[in-house]
Amino acid sequence: MRLVFVGPPGAGKGTQAKVITEKWKIPQISTGDMLREAKKNGKLAPELVEKMGKGGLVPDEVVIDLIKQRTELPDAANGFLLDGFPRTVPQAEALNDLLASRGQKLNVVVALDVAKELLMERACLRRTDKRTGQIYHLKYNPPPPEADLEHRADDQEETVRNRVDVYEKMTADLLPFYEKAGLLRRVDGVGDVKEVTARVLSAIEQSK
Ligand code: ADP
Ligand code: ADP
Repeated sequence: MRLVFVGPPGAGKGTQAKVITEKWKIPQISTGDMLREAKKNGKLAPELVEKMGKGGLVPDEVVIDLIKQRTELPDAANGFLLDGFPRTVPQAEALNDLLASRGQKLNVVVALDVAKELLMERACLRRTDKRTGQIYHLKYNPPPPEADLEHRADDQEETVRNRVDVYEKMTADLLPFYEKAGLLRRVDGVGDVKEVTARVLSAIEQSK
């Protein structure tokens, strides 16, 4: 199973991806996580660190290269879930070409829909455990006292607003691209985490 999660910042992609990938034993591949890791290790060019900090997109070649290398690893042989990639039509085309060159294709693209007003609260109150990567929310999924919490540099109100705008511009082309390919499934991302998981699973099931 090769699938893609698309959705605005704070929609719940990471949260849902974790459940699905554990269930199917496939890796979750998040370009955002990979870029943050590279940044932490001092391996991300300063101009890209600045771009990310402001909520802008990094160049297509950078993320395409990351995906190319990551999907070649043995744990991705039976499938993977891409979270946060592709974000542009050139990225989507590059992914198609990459998969085609390996005789593979995408099964489904799940778009998580969440209204703008809710995204601000979801992203700004998001906290992640540095050691485990577990995603928490100060109001909806409070962390245990022993968690070693991290607040993402780009989860500030103004930056989140900018990221939501960037997302809206980008999806204006990306979603129709996948709609035309017959791969797009839209899922309502508002409600309990478990409720949303059930909707995601049912959307994937229908596209098998
Ligand atoms: P994304 O990867 O799309 O940016 P996350 O999965 O990190 O989103 O979720 C953003 C924040 O919203 C996190 O704090 C998470 O705990 C919380 N969250 C995720 N899904 C839900 C939901 N269904 N209801 C309420 N809060 C949620
Ligand atoms: P979120 O989970 O909030 O949707 P991500 O963690 O996916 O955000 O991405 C964080 C940042 O990393 C983005 O704002 C962008 O700067 C960069 N980034 C991640 N994936 C991509 C991509 N596919 N193309 C360009 N930039 C990306």
